[in-house]
Amino acid sequence: MTHDPAALFNPRTFDASQFDEETQRLLLAVIDWFEGRGKRRLLEEDLDRVWYADFLRFAAKEKLFATFQTPEAEAFGAAAGAQRWDTARNAALSEILGFYGLPYWYTWQVTVLGLGPVWMSGNDEARERAAHLLDEGHVFAFGLSEKEHGADVYSTDMILTPDGNGGFTATGGKYYIGNGNVAGMVSVFGRRADVEGPDGYVFFAVDSRHEKFELVQNVVASQMYVSEFKLDGYPVTEADILHTGADAFSAALNTVNVGKFNLCTASVGIAEHSFYEAITHAHNRILYGHPVTDFGHVRASFVDAYARLIAMKLFSARAVDYFRSAGPEDRRYLLFNPITKMKVTSEGEQVIDLLWDVIAARGFEKDTYFAGATHYIRALPKLEGTVHVNLALVLKFMPNYLFAPQEYADVPTRLDAADDTFLFQQGPARGLGKVRFHDWRTAYRQAAGVPNVVRFTEQAEALTQFLTDCPPDEAQQQDLDFLLNVGQLFTLVVYGQLVLEQAQLTGLDDEVVDQIFDVLVRDFSSYAVALHGKPSSTPAQQEWALSAVRKPVVDAARFGRLWERVVSLSGAYEMRP
Ligand SMILES: Cc1cc2nc3c(=O)[nH]c(=O)nc-3n(C[C@H](O)[C@H](O)[C@H](O)COP(=O)(O)OP(=O)(O)OC[C@H]3O[C@@H](n4cnc5c(N)ncnc54)[C@H](O)[C@@H]3O)c2cc1C
Repeated sequence: MTHDPAALFNPRTFDASQFDEETQRLLLAVIDWFEGRGKRRLLEEDLDRVWYADFLRFAAKEKLFATFQTPEAEAFGAAAGAQRWDTARNAALSEILGFYGLPYWYTWQVTVLGLGPVWMSGNDEARERAAHLLDEGHVFAFGLSEKEHGADVYSTDMILTPDGNGGFTATGGKYYIGNGNVAGMVSVFGRRADVEGPDGYVFFAVDSRHEKFELVQNVVASQMYVSEFKLDGYPVTEADILHTGADAFSAALNTVNVGKFNLCTASVGIAEHSFYEAITHAHNRILYGHPVTDFGHVRASFVDAYARLIAMKLFSARAVDYFRSAGPEDRRYLLFNPITKMKVTSEGEQVIDLLWDVIAARGFEKDTYFAGATHYIRALPKLEGTVHVNLALVLKFMPNYLFAPQEYADVPTRLDAADDTFLFQQGPARGLGKVRFHDWRTAYRQAAGVPNVVRFTEQAEALTQFLTDCPPDEAQQQDLDFLLNVGQLFTLVVYGQLVLEQAQLTGLDDEVVDQIFDVLVRDFSSYAVALHGKPSSTPAQQEWALSAVRKPVVDAARFGRLWERVVSLSGAYEMRP
């Protein structure tokens, strides 16, 4: 999103010239809206939990969501010329919204989710209705979760009873549903009372303004509205049915595939804004006659936070390319996506933790963006599937990824103004273990001149040895605690691969790559030690774990130059008061 791959997003210097004119106009209009509002008011309204009706009015007037969230095939109204589903520009918008505040991002995000089952539906009338509602400036909602069932969405208690005229009445409750207070259309997941098993699933559309839609409460104390709602005999006609049977379940999973991608960029935006505040504060705070940033441990924390943040951006940006180039024969995005979800967002937490230990009390103050970031950053790993659920997903790809590479045509950088049609035609959500990948070793080989990439490659190779020589036994294969730790080790290899690919595509300075891999080497070591300590690890596995521990290649001059990059960010951005 910015042309220097090691730069943070800065509203003052933001250059959207890689996008078409209307996209540039809208992204800059969003920045102007927030900067025009000013920091004091933005933060006050967050603390006072003010519903952001004016932001939604702005978005409606500019046809922001209508432009970004209407696929070309559904184009409608004044914004039709610029309407397409373009994952690259969606990522840019998501980062900007996260940068100014997670609640603003959230209303956009659940609109993405709410639209998923609609755009995936064969119901022309419902899709047309959605395009009209978007054009009028409505937001949407995604009604999957229920209070009692968490990740176990199979157990839905939203029941559709046939009404004898080809339709149904729907009765049941939904919980944690964003935008449920205002959504023009809510996509709701339920099951038929008269059909057992997967054939009974139904995705249907409801209107939050209907009299049979009871808005119970906002379950969180926040500006964003995360609703509990109930349907009591809500009439569902054929025109409202989006999907039935196993397709309804696939639509749920495929929608989450599209939606959960936005969490990584939100996390990046939150971490970026926080970074500016933290370095500016720390560098200007004098203790014992010296800036706080003279402390060695403070510099180490900032350089680590910076390296982690740049890696988050590189991985996410490269994942966009795989998303946009996906098709029935190339489903690699299904691995990269849960990694954006669980790894990039967990890294966001790490960045905030590192910064917070430095700025300490300042991070509580009500005039900082940082104070909000400390809790908002925590949300992203937990929403739309927890870290565990996504890590369990990641594991399904491990054998083919590590041991059975296949040739693919190179995937280029995808910032073109294409409509990502495949995302709404992903097909059945099964068969993950059959997805094949290009050779992960290629990216590592190409960066073999970077000392810490070499060191990390030794660890990645060690992981393949582990899986060959002392793999999880039958009991361990049922032991998620053990397996998820293996999943973390594997995730690091994939993470490093896409970081390297993006570094190469963007000409990122090798010193930054080296610093990123300094972090990854230490992270791999710590997960190896964790595996060593797992209750069921065998003597061979313990021995393997300790042998996979590495110390990164130390280079004080490199660290010094990285620090210079970091400190140059002091004062580089402050939101308009
Ligand atoms: C602010 C907010 C907004 C939200 N917005 C929406 C929304 O708009 N629409 C919507 O439908 N939902 C929404 N959600 C719900 C959210 O997606 C769920 O919270 C999330 O899917 C996890 O469910 P849970 O928190 O109930 O955890 P649970 O499912 O109760 O999980 C409990 C524990 O079990 C683990 N676990 C569960 N299943 C597995 C598994 N298969 N493998 C490994 N570990 C597992 C989990 O990791 C977790 O540690 C929202 C939630 C919040 C807090």
